[in-house]
Amino acid sequence: MHEVALAESLIDLARGEAERAGASRIDKLIIEIGTLSHVDPHALRFAFETARLGSPVETAELEIEEPPGKAYCMTCEAVVPIEKRGDPCPVCHGSRLLVQAGEEMKLKAMEIA
Ligand SMILES: [Zn+2]
Repeated sequence: MHEVALAESLIDLARGEAERAGASRIDKLIIEIGTLSHVDPHALRFAFETARLGSPVETAELEIEEPPGKAYCMTCEAVVPIEKRGDPCPVCHGSRLLVQAGEEMKLKAMEIA
């Protein structure tokens, strides 16, 4: 995933939302970047600092949340935490895992003025 493209699409999304709400300024953006999403939060923050110049989020505070990975194990039927895709089940060491959380990349909330 290219962080610059992601930052630009998040800004576009925020701009659209603000326009729909009739807001002139965006004070804060809360973005969720799952730990399994292959997005580097530091790179995203850096890309955001450049991409937002001249946009309604130019002065907004950026908060990045990183929900941990979670998967369902088809072998022992437990829901287990995982750090990355392809990790074995920490309970039974099986490898048949269905990722349930941690891949999200989304604009979770924003504060507008
Ligand atoms: Zn298991």
